[in-house]
Amino acid sequence: MTRFFKALLATCTLAASQSFAAAPVPVVASFSILGDVARAIGGERVKVETLVGPNQDAHVYQAKPADIQKIRAAKVVLVNGLGFEGASIQRAVRDSKVYSLAASKGIPTIKVEEDDHDHKGHDHGHDHGDVDPHVWTNPAVMQRYAQNVAGALIIADPEGRLYYGQRLLDYQQTLRELDTWAAQQFDSVPKAERKVLTGHDAFAYLGKRYDVQFLSPQGTSTESEASARTVAKLIQQVKQEKVKAVFVENIKDPRLVQQLAKEAGVTVQTAPLYADALSPAGGPATSYVNMMRHNVTQMVKAMK
Ligand SMILES: [Zn+2]
Repeated sequence: MTRFFKALLATCTLAASQSFAAAPVPVVASFSILGDVARAIGGERVKVETLVGPNQDAHVYQAKPADIQKIRAAKVVLVNGLGFEGASIQRAVRDSKVYSLAASKGIPTIKVEEDDHDHKGHDHGHDHGDVDPHVWTNPAVMQRYAQNVAGALIIADPEGRLYYGQRLLDYQQTLRELDTWAAQQFDSVPKAERKVLTGHDAFAYLGKRYDVQFLSPQGTSTESEASARTVAKLIQQVKQEKVKAVFVENIKDPRLVQQLAKEAGVTVQTAPLYADALSPAGGPATSYVNMMRHNVTQMVKAMK
């Protein structure tokens, strides 16, 4: 064997062993739902760290020193965008200069209707934007969300292009099945009866997709306060329209919804809806797909 071939062989062996034994790509996802999508597409090639964990509220979450370290150690940081993440996370990502991508990029957004909710506006000190950030509640637009995640992983780890591409296709197929299933579930309830009350306005994308009307005392951010006028109006509406599907959320203090339900004379559903975060291990919403299946099943059951 010539020296040239020996050298070539050595190079190839080295390259092969590197690609098999390479450490997983460090990825940070701002919240648990996005973390699950990143794991679904990244598979064994990535190690995903999540900042805002299960049952936690990303709207009001404050970045901790450990979070800033995770961001700095990452090769790519995935955020939802559209003002979903609190200001401290947005700042930490910006300051780190680590490559980051908003998974909601390119998804048609729903504008926030401010009329029914009191916003303290200038007191917040940061901009919520005028769009609803909860895009993930519609599995159809999650096709694009997942594609954006795959694109970011490929930029961080170009060698994994085919791997991520295949996993994206598989995941998109799962999302299509989820969408079809959810549509079938809601179809079993007459449109006029598809009404759900939740703590904050987190399900508008789902509502638009499947013709479900959502009512909530709080706006699209849990930071906004429910006004007495909004609550009084909702109590009337729940009574008049006989809204049966009244839910508390996993990320929020249940007392506002409980009080509202009591005054309207309706029972709060036992199972919470998983808004903005997955459940901890052992719960019914440990992945995005499980979360959607849980939420849709509970909503449909309660509306009947
Ligand atoms: Zn929310």
